[in-house]
Amino acid sequence: MLTASMGALVGGAVLGTSACSSAAPQESPHTLPDDALITLGVQAGPPPVPGKTGISSTLKIGSDLYQIDCGLGSLNAFTNAGLRFDDLKSLFITHLHTDHIVDYFSFFLSGGYTAAKGKAPVTIYGPGPAGGLPPSRVGNSDPATINPKDPAPGLAATTALLQQAFAYTDNIFIRDMGTDDIQKLAKVTEIAVPPGSDYRNRSPRTAPFPVVTDDNVAVTATLVAHYDVYPAFGFRFDLAKSGVSVTFSGDTTKSDNLIALAGGTDILVHEAQFSLDDAYYHNRFPPNYLKSSHTSAEQVGEVAAAADAKHVILSHYSPTDLPESDWLDAVGKHYSGKITVARDGQVFEL
Ligand SMILES: [Zn+2]
Repeated sequence: MLTASMGALVGGAVLGTSACSSAAPQESPHTLPDDALITLGVQAGPPPVPGKTGISSTLKIGSDLYQIDCGLGSLNAFTNAGLRFDDLKSLFITHLHTDHIVDYFSFFLSGGYTAAKGKAPVTIYGPGPAGGLPPSRVGNSDPATINPKDPAPGLAATTALLQQAFAYTDNIFIRDMGTDDIQKLAKVTEIAVPPGSDYRNRSPRTAPFPVVTDDNVAVTATLVAHYDVYPAFGFRFDLAKSGVSVTFSGDTTKSDNLIALAGGTDILVHEAQFSLDDAYYHNRFPPNYLKSSHTSAEQVGEVAAAADAKHVILSHYSPTDLPESDWLDAVGKHYSGKITVARDGQVFEL
């Protein structure tokens, strides 16, 4: 099984094979299960990696799609998985780091280009403005500030600015091709954060708070700790019909808030750095960056056990070239439930 899995990894994005018994084998993108989690991209970090897709997941609930994060290549992965923009109901952004949002506007520019007339807007939920910037952590006493008038815009301002930036192509296509105004396809709600948190006190202990409830799903969130990024969210989706729950850690250190959010969850999609020791990565990161940003493989097991999660799925993990058995051993040290090291395009029936 491990050999088969490594073959699949070497082969890049594979939809239609299953390395682990935990994933439902798919013959074709068009035979997706009624309810499914698709790990479109599992690659962590901003740099492009050959053959890999940046962090992004889709929940398919009946015929409605819910997108969680939009890493590099996610719209292509979404399309390769047989998913259509017309079925995209809501989009959730965990935090405003590049590797989670770089393909965000592609969904509207490219995905929305052929949107059906009268398609309901995609409701988008994500971070509001951070409220301030931290000092340099790398010893630069006078770091450059991009757009000093508004150096930390939230998702609503970001979206409005993107719409302005791409005005010309949209105006041309509206005139030449009769396309719809893509501004109408995006409806942003910035998630209200618990009182007492701010860009200096980013992840105080807090109970899970509601984001949105519709016919398919109730979504709750919590604040997680991801170095200087504020707010950074974890999300939990409780499916209305089946009662199945899927919780996404977002990017975080080992988090008590996340453990509370994920309590009893069926699936915990968790990020991981195999080690938080900078020497393991040849001292590539600033001192303490890893320990203040991410969760080790062993700690993922501790979180999954504390939350009593039935199945933990690693996504947004690094390094990606470790043998799967290393991950299973490390996460399994403190956790006896099911563990899957997700691959790009892997489908999990819910
Ligand atoms: Zn991040």
